[in-house]
Amino acid sequence: CGIIGACLGSQACRNLVIGEIIFNGLLRLEYRGYDSAGVAVIADELVVRKGKGKLIELNARLNFKELRGCTGIGHTRWATHGVPNDINAHPHVDCRKMFAVVHNGVLENFTELKRVLKNGGHVFASDTDTEVIPHLVEEHYYKTGNVYESFKEAVKTLKGSYAILLVTPLEPFKIFFAKKDSPLIIGLGEGFNLLASDIPAVLPHTRSVVVIRDYWVGFITPDEVFVEDLTSGRRVEVKDYIRTVEW
Ligand code: GLU
Repeated sequence: CGIIGACLGSQACRNLVIGEIIFNGLLRLEYRGYDSAGVAVIADELVVRKGKGKLIELNARLNFKELRGCTGIGHTRWATHGVPNDINAHPHVDCRKMFAVVHNGVLENFTELKRVLKNGGHVFASDTDTEVIPHLVEEHYYKTGNVYESFKEAVKTLKGSYAILLVTPLEPFKIFFAKKDSPLIIGLGEGFNLLASDIPAVLPHTRSVVVIRDYWVGFITPDEVFVEDLTSGRRVEVKDYIRTVEW
Protein backbone atom coordinates (compact mmCIF):
# COMPACT_ATOMS: atom_id res chain seq x y z
CA CYS A 1 0.00 0.00 0.00
CA GLY A 2 1.26 3.46 -0.83
CA ILE A 3 0.38 7.10 -1.24
CA ILE A 4 1.63 9.87 -3.51
CA GLY A 5 0.54 13.49 -3.93
CA ALA A 6 1.77 16.32 -6.15
CA CYS A 7 1.06 20.04 -6.02
CA LEU A 8 2.46 21.84 -9.08
CA GLY A 9 2.94 25.58 -9.57
CA SER A 10 1.86 27.15 -12.86
CA GLN A 11 5.19 26.57 -14.62
CA ALA A 12 5.60 22.97 -13.42
CA CYS A 13 1.96 22.45 -14.37
CA ARG A 14 2.69 23.53 -17.96
CA ASN A 15 5.81 21.36 -18.28
CA LEU A 16 4.68 18.21 -16.49
CA VAL A 17 1.62 15.95 -16.71
CA ILE A 18 0.27 15.36 -13.21
CA GLY A 19 -1.12 11.94 -14.17
CA GLU A 20 2.38 10.77 -15.11
CA ILE A 21 3.93 12.02 -11.86
CA ILE A 22 1.27 10.26 -9.81
CA PHE A 23 1.35 7.05 -11.85
CA ASN A 24 5.17 6.83 -11.84
CA GLY A 25 5.16 7.50 -8.09
CA LEU A 26 2.69 4.64 -7.57
CA LEU A 27 4.91 2.32 -9.64
CA ARG A 28 7.79 3.17 -7.31
CA LEU A 29 5.60 2.16 -4.35
CA GLU A 30 4.50 -1.14 -5.95
CA TYR A 31 6.99 -3.14 -3.85
CA ARG A 32 4.84 -2.37 -0.77
CA GLY A 33 2.09 -4.61 -2.19
CA TYR A 34 -1.47 -3.76 -3.28
CA ASP A 35 -4.70 -5.12 -4.76
CA SER A 36 -6.25 -1.91 -6.19
CA ALA A 37 -5.21 1.60 -7.13
CA GLY A 38 -6.67 4.99 -7.91
CA VAL A 39 -5.99 8.63 -8.67
CA ALA A 40 -7.79 11.92 -8.00
CA VAL A 41 -6.90 15.12 -9.82
CA ILE A 42 -8.22 18.65 -9.44
CA ALA A 43 -8.75 19.95 -12.96
CA ASP A 44 -11.73 22.31 -13.35
CA GLU A 45 -13.52 19.82 -11.14
CA LEU A 46 -12.65 16.73 -9.14
CA VAL A 47 -11.77 13.74 -11.30
CA VAL A 48 -11.50 10.28 -9.67
CA ARG A 49 -10.40 7.09 -11.46
CA LYS A 50 -9.86 3.83 -9.57
CA GLY A 51 -10.20 0.08 -9.71
CA LYS A 52 -9.06 -3.36 -8.69
CA GLY A 53 -5.98 -4.77 -10.39
CA LYS A 54 -2.39 -4.06 -11.34
CA LEU A 55 -1.25 -0.54 -12.09
CA ILE A 56 -0.27 -1.26 -15.71
CA GLU A 57 -3.64 -2.90 -16.46
CA LEU A 58 -5.57 -0.17 -14.64
CA ASN A 59 -3.71 2.50 -16.60
CA ALA A 60 -4.62 0.76 -19.85
CA ARG A 61 -8.29 0.87 -18.78
CA LEU A 62 -8.47 4.23 -16.94
CA ASN A 63 -5.64 6.29 -18.51
CA PHE A 64 -4.21 7.64 -15.25
CA LYS A 65 -1.21 8.99 -17.16
CA GLU A 66 -3.18 11.37 -19.34
CA LEU A 67 -4.83 13.21 -16.41
CA ARG A 68 -4.05 16.94 -16.46
CA GLY A 69 -4.25 19.39 -13.60
CA CYS A 70 -2.00 21.03 -11.02
CA THR A 71 -2.95 19.00 -7.93
CA GLY A 72 -3.30 15.22 -7.68
CA ILE A 73 -3.15 12.25 -5.32
CA GLY A 74 -2.74 8.51 -5.89
CA HIS A 75 -3.10 5.34 -3.84
CA THR A 76 -2.31 1.67 -3.92
CA ARG A 77 -4.59 -0.27 -1.58
CA TRP A 78 -3.96 -3.33 0.52
CA ALA A 79 -7.50 -4.09 1.67
CA THR A 80 -8.14 -4.34 5.40
CA HIS A 81 -11.87 -3.45 5.51
CA GLY A 82 -13.98 -4.32 2.47
CA VAL A 83 -12.99 -6.79 -0.25
CA PRO A 84 -10.69 -5.68 -3.08
CA ASN A 85 -13.01 -4.31 -5.79
CA ASP A 86 -13.50 -1.15 -7.88
CA ILE A 87 -15.78 0.57 -5.36
CA ASN A 88 -13.59 -0.08 -2.33
CA ALA A 89 -10.49 1.22 -4.15
CA HIS A 90 -9.34 4.68 -3.06
CA PRO A 91 -9.77 7.68 -3.46
CA HIS A 92 -13.05 7.91 -1.53
CA VAL A 93 -15.39 10.92 -1.67
CA ASP A 94 -18.18 12.51 0.38
CA CYS A 95 -21.86 12.74 -0.66
CA ARG A 96 -21.34 15.97 -2.63
CA LYS A 97 -18.08 14.73 -4.20
CA MET A 98 -16.16 17.75 -2.91
CA PHE A 99 -13.46 15.96 -0.91
CA ALA A 100 -11.31 13.10 -2.22
CA VAL A 101 -9.27 11.11 0.29
CA VAL A 102 -6.58 8.43 0.11
CA HIS A 103 -5.57 6.59 3.29
CA ASN A 104 -3.10 3.96 4.35
CA GLY A 105 -3.72 2.30 7.69
CA VAL A 106 -6.65 1.07 9.76
CA LEU A 107 -9.32 3.17 11.50
CA GLU A 108 -10.25 1.33 14.67
CA ASN A 109 -13.37 3.40 15.45
CA PHE A 110 -14.85 3.58 11.94
CA THR A 111 -17.93 1.48 12.79
CA GLU A 112 -18.99 3.98 15.42
CA LEU A 113 -18.16 7.00 13.22
CA LYS A 114 -20.03 5.48 10.28
CA ARG A 115 -23.11 4.79 12.38
CA VAL A 116 -23.28 8.42 13.54
CA LEU A 117 -22.71 9.75 10.02
CA LYS A 118 -25.38 7.43 8.57
CA ASN A 119 -27.85 8.59 11.23
CA GLY A 120 -27.05 12.13 10.10
CA GLY A 121 -28.03 11.27 6.53
CA HIS A 122 -24.67 10.39 4.96
CA VAL A 123 -24.84 7.71 2.27
CA PHE A 124 -21.83 5.43 1.92
CA ALA A 125 -20.65 3.86 -1.34
CA SER A 126 -18.00 1.45 -0.05
CA ASP A 127 -17.33 -1.04 2.74
CA THR A 128 -14.03 0.61 3.72
CA ASP A 129 -13.05 2.22 7.00
CA THR A 130 -11.51 5.07 4.98
CA GLU A 131 -14.77 6.42 3.57
CA VAL A 132 -15.73 7.93 6.94
CA ILE A 133 -12.96 10.52 6.45
CA PRO A 134 -14.42 12.49 3.48
CA HIS A 135 -17.87 12.31 5.10
CA LEU A 136 -16.51 13.66 8.39
CA VAL A 137 -14.79 16.53 6.58
CA GLU A 138 -18.00 17.24 4.65
CA GLU A 139 -19.98 17.27 7.90
CA HIS A 140 -17.62 19.82 9.50
CA TYR A 141 -17.24 21.86 6.31
CA TYR A 142 -20.92 22.63 5.99
CA LYS A 143 -20.83 23.94 9.57
CA THR A 144 -17.56 25.90 9.45
CA GLY A 145 -16.95 26.75 5.78
CA ASN A 146 -13.21 26.22 6.34
CA VAL A 147 -11.56 23.24 4.69
CA TYR A 148 -8.43 23.04 6.82
CA GLU A 149 -10.30 23.42 10.13
CA SER A 150 -12.79 20.78 8.99
CA PHE A 151 -9.98 18.44 8.01
CA LYS A 152 -8.30 18.90 11.40
CA GLU A 153 -11.56 18.30 13.27
CA ALA A 154 -12.13 15.12 11.26
CA VAL A 155 -8.61 13.85 11.96
CA LYS A 156 -9.00 14.51 15.69
CA THR A 157 -11.90 12.01 15.83
CA LEU A 158 -9.92 9.16 14.22
CA LYS A 159 -8.47 6.27 16.22
CA GLY A 160 -6.00 3.85 14.70
CA SER A 161 -3.29 4.29 12.09
CA TYR A 162 -3.32 6.66 9.16
CA ALA A 163 -1.44 8.47 6.47
CA ILE A 164 -4.11 10.61 4.80
CA LEU A 165 -4.14 12.97 1.82
CA LEU A 166 -7.16 15.08 0.88
CA VAL A 167 -7.80 17.25 -2.18
CA THR A 168 -10.79 19.45 -2.98
CA PRO A 169 -11.78 21.82 -5.80
CA LEU A 170 -12.63 24.30 -3.01
CA GLU A 171 -8.83 24.75 -2.54
CA PRO A 172 -7.42 23.59 -5.87
CA PHE A 173 -3.74 24.29 -5.10
CA LYS A 174 -3.46 22.45 -1.79
CA ILE A 175 -3.07 18.90 -0.51
CA PHE A 176 -4.07 18.41 3.12
CA PHE A 177 -2.29 15.67 5.05
CA ALA A 178 -2.24 13.91 8.44
CA LYS A 179 -0.15 11.07 9.81
CA LYS A 180 -0.11 8.60 12.69
CA ASP A 181 1.59 5.16 12.69
CA SER A 182 1.71 4.95 8.87
CA PRO A 183 4.64 6.46 6.97
CA LEU A 184 4.46 9.78 5.10
CA ILE A 185 7.13 12.16 3.81
CA ILE A 186 7.23 15.53 2.04
CA GLY A 187 9.40 16.09 -1.05
CA LEU A 188 10.34 19.74 -1.53
CA GLY A 189 10.78 20.95 -5.11
CA GLU A 190 11.36 24.21 -6.97
CA GLY A 191 7.86 25.40 -7.81
CA PHE A 192 6.22 22.16 -6.68
CA ASN A 193 5.87 20.00 -3.57
CA LEU A 194 5.15 16.30 -3.13
CA LEU A 195 3.89 13.89 -0.47
CA ALA A 196 4.59 10.14 -0.45
CA SER A 197 4.70 7.02 1.67
CA ASP A 198 8.44 6.83 1.28
CA ILE A 199 11.49 8.54 -0.14
CA PRO A 200 12.13 6.52 -3.36
CA ALA A 201 8.76 7.70 -4.73
CA VAL A 202 9.94 11.35 -4.81
CA LEU A 203 13.61 10.85 -5.76
CA PRO A 204 13.09 11.39 -9.52
CA HIS A 205 11.95 14.93 -8.64
CA THR A 206 13.84 16.03 -5.51
CA ARG A 207 16.40 14.99 -2.86
CA SER A 208 15.10 17.45 -0.30
CA VAL A 209 12.69 15.72 2.10
CA VAL A 210 10.92 16.07 5.44
CA VAL A 211 9.93 12.91 7.31
CA ILE A 212 6.50 13.64 8.79
CA ARG A 213 6.05 12.70 12.45
CA ASP A 214 3.04 11.22 14.19
CA TYR A 215 0.27 13.74 14.92
CA TRP A 216 1.55 16.25 12.39
CA VAL A 217 -1.23 17.74 10.30
CA GLY A 218 -1.04 20.41 7.63
CA PHE A 219 -1.03 21.12 3.91
CA ILE A 220 1.30 21.68 1.01
CA THR A 221 0.93 24.16 -1.85
CA PRO A 222 3.36 24.43 -4.81
CA ASP A 223 5.58 26.80 -2.79
CA GLU A 224 4.60 26.42 0.86
CA VAL A 225 4.47 23.74 3.52
CA PHE A 226 2.33 24.37 6.60
CA VAL A 227 2.53 21.95 9.52
CA GLU A 228 1.07 21.87 13.02
CA ASP A 229 1.49 19.37 15.83
CA LEU A 230 -1.96 18.16 16.87
CA THR A 231 -0.81 17.20 20.37
CA SER A 232 0.63 20.64 21.26
CA GLY A 233 -1.39 22.74 18.81
CA ARG A 234 1.89 24.48 17.87
CA ARG A 235 3.16 25.29 14.43
CA VAL A 236 6.12 23.16 13.29
CA GLU A 237 9.10 25.00 11.76
CA VAL A 238 9.44 22.78 8.72
CA LYS A 239 12.88 24.14 7.77
CA ASP A 240 14.35 22.58 10.94
CA TYR A 241 13.39 19.12 9.66
CA ILE A 242 14.57 19.28 6.03
CA ARG A 243 17.21 16.74 5.08
CA THR A 244 19.00 15.98 1.85
CA VAL A 245 18.93 12.38 0.65
CA GLU A 246 22.52 11.34 -0.11
CA TRP A 247 21.91 7.80 -1.37
N1 GLU B 1 -7.96 0.35 5.62
C1 GLU B 1 -8.03 0.92 4.30
C2 GLU B 1 -8.81 0.01 3.37
O1 GLU B 1 -8.97 -1.15 3.62
C3 GLU B 1 -6.65 1.25 3.75
C4 GLU B 1 -5.80 0.05 3.44
C5 GLU B 1 -4.39 0.43 2.98
O2 GLU B 1 -3.58 0.81 3.85
O3 GLU B 1 -4.10 0.33 1.79
O4 GLU B 1 -9.25 0.45 2.36
